[in-house]
Amino acid sequence: MSDAPTRTEPASLTQVEAEARAALISVRRYDIAVDMTGLLDGPTIECVSTIAFECAEPGASTFVDCAADIRSATLNGRDLDLSIFDAGRLPLPDLAADNVLVVASAQSDTGRSVGILRTVDPSDKLVYVWTSFEPDAARYVWACFDQPDLKAPHGFVVTAPESWTVLSNSAPDQVEPADEGTASVETPARVWTFGDTPPLSTYVVVVNAGPFVELRREVDGYDLGLYARQSLARYLDRDADELFELTRQGLAWFGGQFDQPFPQRRYDQVFVPNMGGAMENWGCVTWTDAVIYRSPPTYAQRQARASVLMHEMAHMWFGDLVTMRWWDDLWLNEAFASWAATWALVGAGTEHTDAWAGFLCALKLEGYRADMSPGTHPIRGDVPDVAQAMANFDAITYSKGQSVLKQLSAYVGDDAFVRGLQAYFRDHAWGNTRLDDLIDAVAAAAGRDLSSWTPAWLDSAGTDTIRLADGALSIVAPDGGVPRPHRFDIVSYVVRDDVLHAVATTPVESTEASVEVDLPEADLHLLNANDLTFAAVRPDATSLATLLSRAGDLPDPLSRALAGGTAWDMMVKGELGAGDVVGVLTAALVTERSPIVVESFLGMALKAAEQWAPADQVAPLLLEVASTASGLTVEPDFRMPALRALAASASTADHFEILREPADHERDLAWRVLARRAELGDYDEDAVTALEKADLDPEAWVRALAVRGAQPDAAAKDEAWSALMVDRTVPMGSSLVQVGNLFWRPTQAELLKPWTDRYLDVLPSLASGGLLAVGGLIRVLFPFAVADQEFHDRALSLAEAPGTHPAIRQNLLTGADTLRRMLAARALSS
Ligand SMILES: [Zn+2]
Repeated sequence: MSDAPTRTEPASLTQVEAEARAALISVRRYDIAVDMTGLLDGPTIECVSTIAFECAEPGASTFVDCAADIRSATLNGRDLDLSIFDAGRLPLPDLAADNVLVVASAQSDTGRSVGILRTVDPSDKLVYVWTSFEPDAARYVWACFDQPDLKAPHGFVVTAPESWTVLSNSAPDQVEPADEGTASVETPARVWTFGDTPPLSTYVVVVNAGPFVELRREVDGYDLGLYARQSLARYLDRDADELFELTRQGLAWFGGQFDQPFPQRRYDQVFVPNMGGAMENWGCVTWTDAVIYRSPPTYAQRQARASVLMHEMAHMWFGDLVTMRWWDDLWLNEAFASWAATWALVGAGTEHTDAWAGFLCALKLEGYRADMSPGTHPIRGDVPDVAQAMANFDAITYSKGQSVLKQLSAYVGDDAFVRGLQAYFRDHAWGNTRLDDLIDAVAAAAGRDLSSWTPAWLDSAGTDTIRLADGALSIVAPDGGVPRPHRFDIVSYVVRDDVLHAVATTPVESTEASVEVDLPEADLHLLNANDLTFAAVRPDATSLATLLSRAGDLPDPLSRALAGGTAWDMMVKGELGAGDVVGVLTAALVTERSPIVVESFLGMALKAAEQWAPADQVAPLLLEVASTASGLTVEPDFRMPALRALAASASTADHFEILREPADHERDLAWRVLARRAELGDYDEDAVTALEKADLDPEAWVRALAVRGAQPDAAAKDEAWSALMVDRTVPMGSSLVQVGNLFWRPTQAELLKPWTDRYLDVLPSLASGGLLAVGGLIRVLFPFAVADQEFHDRALSLAEAPGTHPAIRQNLLTGADTLRRMLAARALSS
């Protein structure tokens, strides 16, 4: 035993250190005893980590990672010298061939979402605890060799308060009352003993605990579980059938397509408070409970959630079963799971057969935006230490990465791609790989040489532009160099009887800057039909005119999304004003039937009006959106998204009259109407108080805060700002988006100027928090709608200042570039 010495910050493991450690040792198993009883009333979790491992060179030394307070540590029965424990590393001298390391540790820093978060539900004061370790936060909770290629079975024994349910990667073998003689157990407790996991990386193991509500269902031989905090029970109940069915469809699809069923009966999904996104813990995915929507979700919200469900499930194979050797392949891990998610939504029999259109409008446009900013980067890059692993985690990682995998599948043929995946999972199960292992498997299955494809797509940044003029295609790389190899389709349409008729599909495979194509006479040549490649497209003048004026007449949702996306890309590049883009989108909406395209186009039209139009056109364009949305409210399939868009843009007494009756029945809509009124200077304190009281959502206080923060009033802005950026009490995810969006109202630029400065002032201090959360904060709260040239220049100089954290720099560079483009688009139209 020893007093905890004063220590420096935990060091970040380098790739060189990880390679040396992996060459020296192999881990046989982890046995982790976790005592969570101290978390009921306090901040402390205590763990004893027992690690059995082999050493290839007896007598050599290494270190174990632990960023908690070490209480005691023995190696092969001998006490270790804790005075040399520093920077999150405990040296392990004089290793034997077979070793047993036992480290007892305690962590009291459980309120910052670094590896673990203890949350008190404000509505009922119940305590919930989650862990989430990617990339190297397991060491904050217990001692381990925290790198992805030292995989080992984990056996968890967890002591927790009697009223809690404990979830981990596998099913509990037994749950029994804790021995009353156990010194550390002062409150009634139970001991949960979990079966051994398969060999897992340290970043995908998990322990979640709290008085969760639990729903279980047996499907296709799987034992599925859903969990949420008690205050969300009614919402989880409402969505359970849908979530279970998607889970069933996903397990069947991936198991079949990958020729390898998910090998464990138990598959749990745990929805927890105050978490960003979701994490692919083996057999026990942890999600933000913001997706357990407090109002009936719209189609787009359900599609986004279904996509996350499939994404995390795809990681069970790609990430957990077969794991990247080092974090330089993290982009591939994420890009693959994102591609697989959309692929599964379309193929697995879900209702979301238009998921590729949803991806294009929501995420791919973000990928293009990031890729045209000076903060762009090649998809893959060096990751010298773990701290760099998430520095480049942005739309290029997820969205461009996903698009490039879709292009690879088109390039080699979808069947060959899937056969390559099957071989990859078969040959590397429970092991670690590099990108080349995947590419080799796909190349072998396809019988194609991919040695030039890979560097062309992965090692240079930026987006090619495919142009059609005078019957020839020109493909221009952003740096003027050789364009990437592209495989895409051109579908040609003629207008007959005022209807678009497809007359030919022309497949193209290009490796050169100029390609001759033999196209029929037509009114529209739709470039990149089916959205197979990642490239900007500019058809010939006749085609472009037809595309923009007849976007709504194209026969399928993905083609219509391509038309809207092309208009958007032209606005972003200063070729089309925001008013024209709103015009293209609202015209197409008149006949649109795809629910994902309706919601996407409504959202894009609102965004174009609020962020890309000059100040004097914001109100007239919002009026145009409101009038289109009003028309859609009579269509049962689109009623709710149309009402929401109307609430965001309502400009006349008639608009508010349309909203009055539905808002009486739908609380979410009532909040939106109050927010719009507050923005327009018509804040209704009594109505806000009454609605907050009636709302059963534990986060209703956030809605009230957001409405107050929408007012054109400095004191109200101060209150919202403190919650957002000073106290950080607004939960991550959709709550943050709501409050942030209502804070930066485009018509309040003058009033908001001081807060744009404060935004930049506070950024440097954020670097110490969880980086995923901080990245979200920077992106979501970037003041696009109100910032000016001066702000842009300050943001750029902060991004470029020495010492600015890489993740902050990256997000600022992208944000500043988007703002520059918005300023240009506003100037174009004014
Ligand atoms: Zn992922």
